[in-house]
Amino acid sequence: MNDEYDVVIAGAGPAGGQCARDLATRGYDVVVLETEAEDEFPRQSNKSTAGTFPSMMSAFGVPDDVVMNYTENVVLESPTDYYVRQQPGAVLEFADFKRFLVEDSREDGAEYVFDAHVTEPIVENGEPIGVRYNGSEEVYADIVIDATGPSAPIAKKLGVSDLERTNHAIGIEYELEGIEIDRPGYADLTDAMMLRLDHDLAPGGYSWIFHTGADTAKVGICYIQNESHQNYARDDFSVDDYLQHWLETDPRFADASRIEGKQHRGSAHIQLPGQLYTDRFMAIGDTVPSVDPLWGEGINKCMRSGRAAATTADACLKHGGLEPTAENLEVYETLWHRDVAPNMDSRLLMTELLYLASNERYDRLMADLSRLDDDTLARANKGDKRAILRLLEPGDIPLLAKFARQRLTSR
Ligand SMILES: Cc1cc2nc3c(=O)[nH]c(=O)nc-3n(C[C@H](O)[C@H](O)[C@H](O)COP(=O)(O)OP(=O)(O)OC[C@H]3O[C@@H](n4cnc5c(N)ncnc54)[C@H](O)[C@@H]3O)c2cc1C
Repeated sequence: MNDEYDVVIAGAGPAGGQCARDLATRGYDVVVLETEAEDEFPRQSNKSTAGTFPSMMSAFGVPDDVVMNYTENVVLESPTDYYVRQQPGAVLEFADFKRFLVEDSREDGAEYVFDAHVTEPIVENGEPIGVRYNGSEEVYADIVIDATGPSAPIAKKLGVSDLERTNHAIGIEYELEGIEIDRPGYADLTDAMMLRLDHDLAPGGYSWIFHTGADTAKVGICYIQNESHQNYARDDFSVDDYLQHWLETDPRFADASRIEGKQHRGSAHIQLPGQLYTDRFMAIGDTVPSVDPLWGEGINKCMRSGRAAATTADACLKHGGLEPTAENLEVYETLWHRDVAPNMDSRLLMTELLYLASNERYDRLMADLSRLDDDTLARANKGDKRAILRLLEPGDIPLLAKFARQRLTSR
């Protein structure tokens, strides 16, 4: 290992791994420092359901052998109803996917140091010139990138991160076998990714079943500990208790059992991004955060942010080029808002509104979704306010008033 690189990246998740891939392909000296041990990577960080779509697979050349199951439908479920939309997707084996990113970038020359816990930037004349890991070990680079997810040790020390506790979403998931995937009275979940809106199961959030073939699926729940969660929460229930409660009460799980060792747990922040960069530094992936507020799609967004950072680094470093000052890294922010999350603010509004609604309104939402044409739904999903208005009904006025009051008091 050198001690001087073009770029040092902390964290080998989708964001860091993809950024390393893009930089290595362009011939830069890039090193990734990952806190976990290589022989068990990823363990703690194997945390994602990893449902994704063909656009991500083709944009980043993700191979079929990291796919557990190709899906055909996305299903939305409410307490007593459901809505099915044909939409191809894929459920990845997240651990294989992360290892693929490491191997693929290594083939192009990226270096990885496992068992390397990054703690802080090395700062000289007010600028980061490298990172410190495992206590006193150091590595220097022209550009430093934090891709450690919510822990964000470098971004926090540089004052770039503004991840807020109140926007913290937590999730847990098990892989199960013996599930009744096509139970009468429910949507057929064969080759489907299903998201369920139901405050009894996931107050202020949602739960999911992502089919992984035969009678197996990834089954989980997540929520933000916001006001809506407080309103609907049960006393003393942890996120694990909510998942257990669902498994005990939904007849589709009557004969299901957990697949040993297949439990994933994690968190993300659901909020607008703050500062994304400073002199010689960029924050990518969930460190920003990048995850889509509405349905938690993070992989595609984190990969895109890794690509945007690699493009920015390339623009500075090529031909011995520009100093990576904040001014010259500003293009990263432009690319982020264009390519990673172009409608983040309206999607955040939709999310807040959605989780305020009652279970009864969720049932009516399923009917509303069936009534609207595909184009309007696609526009609403992208955050188009006029399309979103078409999903509202006169009975929503009290909900909108409550929403407006909440927004005013949170300012
Ligand atoms: C329960 C759950 C389900 C999800 N389901 C989906 C889904 O179905 N589809 C989807 O698209 N997205 C999903 N997401 C979101 C998606 O997984 C994340 O947005 C994405 O993994 C974030 O990628 P990242 O590279 O930014 O960070 P991470 O994946 O968190 O990777 C960060 C890496 O940094 C390492 N690291 C952390 N601290 C340090 C340190 N100090 N030093 C060195 N290394 C460090 C970690 O070990 C890890 O390898 C889900 C998330 C959760 C929690």
